Amino acid sequence: MTDDGLPPLRDVVEACGIEPSRALGQNFLFDLNLTGRIARAAGPLAGVPVVEVGPGPGGLTRALLAEGAEVVAVERDPRCLPALAAIAERYPGRLTVIAGDALAVLPSGLPVRADGRPWRIVANLPYNVATPLLTGWIEAEPWPPWFDRMVLMFQREVAERIVATPQERADYGRLGVLCGWRTRARILFDVAPSNFVPPPKVLSSIVELVPRPVPLPCSVASLSRVTAAAFGQRRKMLRQSLKGLATPAGSVDAAALLERAGIAGTARAETLTVADFVTLARLADGAEPLPPATPND
Ligand code: SAM
Repeated sequence: MTDDGLPPLRDVVEACGIEPSRALGQNFLFDLNLTGRIARAAGPLAGVPVVEVGPGPGGLTRALLAEGAEVVAVERDPRCLPALAAIAERYPGRLTVIAGDALAVLPSGLPVRADGRPWRIVANLPYNVATPLLTGWIEAEPWPPWFDRMVLMFQREVAERIVATPQERADYGRLGVLCGWRTRARILFDVAPSNFVPPPKVLSSIVELVPRPVPLPCSVASLSRVTAAAFGQRRKMLRQSLKGLATPAGSVDAAALLERAGIAGTARAETLTVADFVTLARLADGAEPLPPATPND
């Protein structure tokens, strides 16, 4: 038994017959010291409603509960459900398990909380759906969103794209613009492959994303379209790559758009700041450009 009175995770996985599945992105954490560190990075958690995606056999779940969180865990693999049921029994009334696909379940399938507290998302994400899940959460409407913070494990390369700025051009792209627009994102620490079972090929990182209360004003749909066009052909000059941009109102005159935004047609997407992209998104929507020096809060 471990400190929480539950069996070691290795034994749990064996008893439940959970042979790790690549298709489900299953790289488990068995070290409760490490899962404790991740949970504390998301804390303090006493009484905090936490959503965990992919609890698997429950290593991180157990750490979150030990820190006092009230956890809703969404798991796609039915083989993990008996292990999670045993954890729920150990922490009565504090763990709800939803069997399903997090892409479909969140956030509409979450229980309604009487206290209206926002959720905190904490997860060792399955790598195959990590980026679509994050993008969906960042594009949430309305904003401020249904969560107050995210503390998530990604492959290091994805973590670098999330926190990238125009100064780090190789990593800067759509994900960096969207995350930088609506959140303050930073890498908290790295996790070596040897900590996982089975070990992945690459380094992983824990990333914290805190929603900005008042991001620069523009429509998420327009910003998504502009960044998709601009980074879709990132080596081309913007006057060329934005030719592909279309809005619900019709096609856009890329040269005129860039001129109104005060951006050279010869510039490339990776040199534009978040505020530049917001200005382009606003103009493409028929709105006025941002007033100079509007802060991104
Ligand atoms: N949290 C556990 C840990 O840290 O040891 C497991 C993490 S493992 C990287 C990812 C987990 O996500 C697996 O348990 C997998 O079955 C689950 N999963 C994969 N795709 C999912 C999806 N679309 N929705 C919910 N869970 C998913």
